Amino acid sequence: MPGEKPIKKTVPFTRTQIEKLEKEYPTPFHIYDEEAIRAGARRLSKAFSWVPGPDGKKGGFLNYFAVKALPNPYILRVLKEEGMGADCSSLPELQLADAVGMKGEDIMFTSNDTPAEEFVVAKKLGAIINLDDITHLDFLEKCAGIPRLICFRYNPGEEYCHGNTIIGNPDEAKYGLTHDQILKAYKMAQKKGAKRFGLHAMIVSNQRDEEILADAARLLFGLAAEIHEKTGITPEFINLGGGVGIPYSPADHLVDIEVFARKVHEAYKENIVENGIAPIRVVMENGRAITGPYGYLVSRVRHVAKKHRDYVGLDACMANLMRPALYGAYHHITVMGKEKKPLNHVYDVTGSLCENNDKFAVQRFLPEITPGDLMVIHESGAHGHAMGFNYNGKLRSAEFLMQAGGKFKLIRRAETANDYFATLDFKGSDFSGLAKKKAPAATPAKSKKQ
Ligand SMILES: *Cc1c(COP(=O)(O)O)cnc(C)c1O
Repeated sequence: MPGEKPIKKTVPFTRTQIEKLEKEYPTPFHIYDEEAIRAGARRLSKAFSWVPGPDGKKGGFLNYFAVKALPNPYILRVLKEEGMGADCSSLPELQLADAVGMKGEDIMFTSNDTPAEEFVVAKKLGAIINLDDITHLDFLEKCAGIPRLICFRYNPGEEYCHGNTIIGNPDEAKYGLTHDQILKAYKMAQKKGAKRFGLHAMIVSNQRDEEILADAARLLFGLAAEIHEKTGITPEFINLGGGVGIPYSPADHLVDIEVFARKVHEAYKENIVENGIAPIRVVMENGRAITGPYGYLVSRVRHVAKKHRDYVGLDACMANLMRPALYGAYHHITVMGKEKKPLNHVYDVTGSLCENNDKFAVQRFLPEITPGDLMVIHESGAHGHAMGFNYNGKLRSAEFLMQAGGKFKLIRRAETANDYFATLDFKGSDFSGLAKKKAPAATPAKSKKQ
């Protein structure tokens, strides 16, 4: 928002701590700040503490952490301790939630184009199944049976037009039921034996405007009243989806979660309380806002090159964090030990992939960089490691949880070349020859006669 002070981007660990860690674990790696994640989780639940539970008393709010943002069981365990559930959309994500002891309605299964076996597992776990399409009702009935509690995902189409580059406009999005379909779907589900209902939509992504965020709630609260009026069915919870944004750039607006929660509360009073359909629980499924700001990708500078532009080449690449390459997203960079130096050099900060979009920053003002410098790329805690891939034989990095007292706990080791080869069975070769032995003399293999 104009006139706001830029956010100061700081790093919660020291150079000495990293140098100590590096003795055993070479860069790059991600570090997640546990205390900060916990503090953020508490702030969110406090802001929504007005949400009534089923008995009309407080305590009805829950955030189902979108597992895809940071699918690591150690993180899920921390979030479970903070009272969160999990939002899953695939079998491995359900397995992760199950592994940390999340049970039944602590899990929301919001998938699309869903295979039958995933519905079967979700039903067996007692997860809340959130259907993406009206035809999935029959599909679910056939493969797993209709659960007592069922939820539908709404797509408002043209009714909501604050879409952005990540999620797009709702009327072009593949997700959710249309207005007419959703009204029919509740009746159909009831006929098939469902007794309890939920309403869901996920219509914003990385949204930092409290008013636009609250608009999504208004829309859903209005729809809940309409569903009640037209079908006699009252959803027992409304899931506002995720999408609360974070300030990637120091110039970005930091969402005031209290202001947002207050606006949602006002809309709740107008649409839910006034229409006599309270109490309805309000829940969310944020991923990015929960862990994104508290993750840091730590990397060393390998090379500095001067060509048509000046380039800084890191030991990390887009396999470790691909948001800049994928969306042109800004991620702030701190050069450790050079925080006070003037930002009087302009660089493209790259990885080592044979793809020219493998850049963490384009034409970024930084202090003068020399090989060996320690760079920290901010906001890597959501959709960072998780989006990693192995193209070009690049390996995904380790992940650390920085715990109270500055203890670094390895919560995922770095991939090795053997992990990369693990799915190959090439005449029993273990592919380790090159790594173990000296390079063999270049004698051509004897050709076998055909
Ligand atoms: C990705 C996703 C989320 C989480 O979005 P964030 O931007 O990480 O908060 C929540 N719900 C659904 C259905 C999603 O696809």
